[in-house]
Amino acid sequence: MQIVCLDLEGVLVPEIWIAFAENTGIAEFRRTTRDEPDYDKLMRWRIALLRQHGLRLSNIQAVISAMAPLPGAREFLDALRARYQVVILSDTFYEFADPLMRQLGRPTLFCHRLEIDADGFVSDYRLRQRDPKRAAVNALKSLNYQVLAAGDSFNDTAMLGAADAGFFIHPPPAIAAQFPQFPVASDYRELMAEIDEAAGRLAA
Ligand SMILES: [Mg+2]
Repeated sequence: MQIVCLDLEGVLVPEIWIAFAENTGIAEFRRTTRDEPDYDKLMRWRIALLRQHGLRLSNIQAVISAMAPLPGAREFLDALRARYQVVILSDTFYEFADPLMRQLGRPTLFCHRLEIDADGFVSDYRLRQRDPKRAAVNALKSLNYQVLAAGDSFNDTAMLGAADAGFFIHPPPAIAAQFPQFPVASDYRELMAEIDEAAGRLAA
C-alpha cells in the first residue's frame, strides 16, 4: 500500500503570506521560515504585525479567497489521486486553507489551527503536534503504508527524509544543494514520473 504526501504552499498553491504581503503592501509579511527558521518566533511576530496594522482574520481570508491554485495543480492532483492515496501535509491553518482546498477538490489536509479573539483578530495558533510533517509520515508508515513525499522547501526536508522516497519540486537552488539526497523535479510532469518510478521500485 502506498500513499503520497504533498506540501501545499509553493507546490499546489502560491505562498499565502507572500500573497498577503503583496495585497496589503506590507512587505514585512513576506518574511518566511527561510528568514526566521524558528516557526514559533515567526508566527508570534506575524500575529503582532497583524494587530499593529488592524488586520483581522477576515482581511486575510479576503485575500485568500481571491487566490487560485498554481497552474496545472488541480489536474496534477486529480491524476495523482487517481493512482495513489494522497494527503496534503501543510504548515498552514484550516482557517486559511478552505478557499484553496475547495478549488483543489478538497483533498485530505493535515495542518494547524488559529485562535481568533472576540474582535476577530488572530490571538494565537495551535500546532497540530511538534515536528508535524515528519510525525505524519511516521504515523502513516506505522499503518503499513509506503510513503512517497514531495515538497519545495526547508520545512519539507524532515518529511522527505522520513518518507520511503522524497522529492523536491522546484526548490530554491540553495536548499536543493543542501539536501542533494532528494531528487529535484522542475514541474508536475517530472514529479509524477519520479513518483511513479519510485512507487514501482518500492512495490517490487
Ligand atoms: Mg512549501
